[in-house]
Amino acid sequence: MGLSTSPTPGPSREREGRSRKMTELRLQDCVNEVCPWSGDPVSADSLTLYRGEVVGFCNPGCKDKFEKAAAAFDAAIEGKK
Ligand SMILES: [Zn+2]
Repeated sequence: MGLSTSPTPGPSREREGRSRKMTELRLQDCVNEVCPWSGDPVSADSLTLYRGEVVGFCNPGCKDKFEKAAAAFDAAIEGKK
């Protein structure tokens, strides 16, 4: 009668909630070839994540513009709920 039903605390339980990879974004993973703002080729230092995919822009300024817009839309959508 020494069996306990309490869950055993595993030493490694820090694997959840980290599925989104924050590693470096690679140009080869970028879904688009040209900047949607300017039509210029995307630059390796101007990549960001959108819906889990790598998207690119021709320079960090374009990426900034997109991220600001996406954040604004996210806030507006969250505010509606
Ligand atoms: Zn651009």
